[in-house]
Amino acid sequence: MGTWPNSPCLEKNCSFCCRKTEMPLSPSDVLRLATTTGQHPNQFSKEESGIRILLNNPVTEACVFLDTVSDDSKAPGLCSIYENRPIGCRTYPLILNADDEAFLDTLCPHREDFPDAPPALLMMLKRLDSELQSQS
Ligand code: SF4
Ligand code: SF4
Repeated sequence: MGTWPNSPCLEKNCSFCCRKTEMPLSPSDVLRLATTTGQHPNQFSKEESGIRILLNNPVTEACVFLDTVSDDSKAPGLCSIYENRPIGCRTYPLILNADDEAFLDTLCPHREDFPDAPPALLMMLKRLDSELQSQS
């Protein structure tokens, strides 16, 4: 599966996008996470309008898979399922606008430190988008 080359996330110690997450999951994300963690999908996600989205930990208000001790949006944290993380987590901060054009989300505080998006990442994002649209 593709990912960003040289993303600034670790270097900047950033976990901003893993907090108060509403990351949608494809059916293959749900299956992979359930298989690799041994958890029921309801332990890490909930369904909204036909799509499953990641759950947040009520204490840290961060994704249930984020290893962190703080609810501060600028606190460090590491993804505990990094190798198996959802497709949307791999492609972020690349997102699509209403015309299906890709751009870097302005909410990402380090978006200017990302390299040009590899074509494989854009393909993954568009495939995820069409999978989610067919579910909702
Ligand atoms: S994608 Fe952006 S917001 Fe998310 S961890 Fe990386 S730098 Fe932070
Ligand atoms: S699965 Fe990992 S990368 Fe995705 S939001 Fe959760 S902690 Fe962050």
